Amino acid sequence: MIIAIDGPSGAGKSTLGRMIAREIRLLYIDTGAMYRAAALAVIESGVGLSDNAAVARVVAQAKIGLEGGPDSLRVMLDGRDVSGEIRTEEVSQASSVISTIPEVRRTLVQCQREMGERAGGVVLDGRDIGTVVFPLADVKFFLSAAPEARAARRFEEDRLKARDRRTFEETLADINTRDQRDSTRDDSPLRKADDAVVIDSTGLSIDEVFERMMEIIRERQEKMS
Ligand code: C5P
Repeated sequence: MIIAIDGPSGAGKSTLGRMIAREIRLLYIDTGAMYRAAALAVIESGVGLSDNAAVARVVAQAKIGLEGGPDSLRVMLDGRDVSGEIRTEEVSQASSVISTIPEVRRTLVQCQREMGERAGGVVLDGRDIGTVVFPLADVKFFLSAAPEARAARRFEEDRLKARDRRTFEETLADINTRDQRDSTRDDSPLRKADDAVVIDSTGLSIDEVFERMMEIIRERQEKMS
């Protein structure tokens, strides 16, 4: 079974993706983490983010992988665990910039398809999973929430992890900048697949969203068996 979860930043995709993968024992792939690792490789290489050809070369050469299960996912770059380093605001913005480059997307999408096909069953979250990476996914979700609700979640996460120390207004501005860039790029913009189930999580708890998603997955599993 292939489950695709798309949506804007802070909609709860990765928390829910992990919960679903754990519940039905599938591989979990956080594709955003792969774009983030690619961005970190570019930053460390010293190449300018606007030099598309050089960025694409750095990403093609980087060895990006995910290790461990949904509860202990480690993001690897050239054999190094970069799970913490990729969560800074600098990397967030850089990942959104380099993900507009078609060659970068091609490299990472190919890698995501190979990982998914090898595993047999997988939950992936990202921006283009249901539209581009696995257009024939068995279940597709599009998670959304009001920008203020998404920024509030991000802000709380950052506060708990004592990360970045930005104000709520700065967090909201960062989310809006990334949403705008992710939805208006030419290659694979953030878009709901025609056959995706839309869940607006504004005002819902993670557990409530999880229950709704699991109901839909169980129905699909019954139809498939
Ligand atoms: O999901 P996350 O916020 O970690 O993703 C970081 C960035 O990577 C996004 O803002 C987006 O620009 C890019 N991305 C993408 N396609 C995906 C996943 C992430 O373009 N499938």
